[in-house]
Amino acid sequence: MTVEFAMPGEQEDVVIVGAGVVGLTSALMLQRLGRSVVVIDPNPPGSGASYGNAGTIADFAIAPVGSPTLLKRLPSLVFDRQGPFSIRQGALLALLPWLAQFAWQSLPGRSENNMRAIAALTLDAGVRWQSLAADLEAQHLIQNKGCLYVFNGEAQYQAGRHDMRRRQAFGVKVELLNPGELAQLEPHLPQVEGGGAFFPDALSVSDPGHLVRLIAARAEADGVQILPESVVRLSAQKRHVVLQLGNGQRVTARQVVIAAGAHSKFLADQVGDLVPLETERGYHLEYDGESERVLRPVCAAESGFYMSPMAGRLRVAGTVELGGVKAPPTPERLAFLSQRMRDIFPDLKAASRSWLGFRPSMPDSRPVISESRVGRQIVYAFGHGHIGLTLAPMTASLVAALIQNTLPEISLNDYRADRF
Ligand SMILES: Cc1cc2nc3c(=O)[nH]c(=O)nc-3n(C[C@H](O)[C@H](O)[C@H](O)COP(=O)(O)OP(=O)(O)OC[C@H]3O[C@@H](n4cnc5c(N)ncnc54)[C@H](O)[C@@H]3O)c2cc1C
Repeated sequence: MTVEFAMPGEQEDVVIVGAGVVGLTSALMLQRLGRSVVVIDPNPPGSGASYGNAGTIADFAIAPVGSPTLLKRLPSLVFDRQGPFSIRQGALLALLPWLAQFAWQSLPGRSENNMRAIAALTLDAGVRWQSLAADLEAQHLIQNKGCLYVFNGEAQYQAGRHDMRRRQAFGVKVELLNPGELAQLEPHLPQVEGGGAFFPDALSVSDPGHLVRLIAARAEADGVQILPESVVRLSAQKRHVVLQLGNGQRVTARQVVIAAGAHSKFLADQVGDLVPLETERGYHLEYDGESERVLRPVCAAESGFYMSPMAGRLRVAGTVELGGVKAPPTPERLAFLSQRMRDIFPDLKAASRSWLGFRPSMPDSRPVISESRVGRQIVYAFGHGHIGLTLAPMTASLVAALIQNTLPEISLNDYRADRF
């Protein structure tokens, strides 16, 4: 296909920076609303965080990362390299401002408020994804066997029960399971003494990377142009936005959406929006031919990772490591995942491959879906943390409302860029 961009001196209509699940679902929606959309990304569509996630359409995942429980453990976590939440020592100083905001957002009242704001975005994620998948003829990639949290011991089960009650208050459908009921649902898992929490209506994706590539293909078929370049600078002029690309080319656009995931901060900074965006680095291991070990995504709650059955493989994805987007993978994090998997399935062979990805994370676990300080010429759609796959269709609808200047489905106050 020949890609034609505006001639020098001409202006694009809408440019979206970032071809992850958030940028591409927004591109698809805006193009269908009659806008002419160009997506710019140096990497293949869906090859960032959107590629390697656990694949859960986690409409139940309304609890922010920062909570009073985590806050109590935060000081010890700074030095614990073996737990599910770790901090790269070399990055600690640079992380202090973000950690201070995170600690503040973990206080009881704030954490509860963040949960409310997240729930407003998630609760019909399954319906939105089903409709998008039907549109893409990708229903075969969507599984409807629910998702499961496993609690190892009684104390963890009681804490989980408390957490689930809070979620139920926001409309999450969840069933608490005793060890026997859990064994019936997942017969290959070893017996646990705690129990489980089952989200029966939750959907999951058997190949997130493939799904995002299908969104890109459909968007292109609808007329979206995808330009394989990086955006290195941007500035807002009176009637347009100027983007400087890595190859030296300049592109002007009427409106721009910044959807560059964990890499969005330096672009927002250039507009004067100093958002506290960090990354929670997450890892995955894949085990080829082992997808039948579990029947649905199963979260080992204590260890902070999912075992997700995917097309032809088992993907074990999760854990949190604060430490920026530049450092290489930390071998201990992969060893942690690998050891936990051997604890659960002692006969499992070595992993077939590993991956590090960058969750775009705000201290309050709420995304930024917002106009910028210069107005709707530049719109933000980043910071979706642990649930960007889940939230992409809802975010696309809200981005479309911002760009089109129409009434959004919900108030956007909780997701403003200037809320800190
Ligand atoms: C281990 C792990 C497990 C997860 N599990 C789940 C899950 O089960 N369910 C769920 O909902 N979410 C999950 N997530 C979170 C989810 O993957 C992310 O929130 C989501 O993918 C973010 O999408 P995005 O489009 O914002 O970012 P990305 O997918 O990272 O896309 C950003 C794009 O921007 C591009 N870009 C960056 N800088 C520039 C630039 N200067 N110019 C042009 N382009 C640029 C990048 O190349 C990239 O393609 C998980 C994440 C991880 C790491």
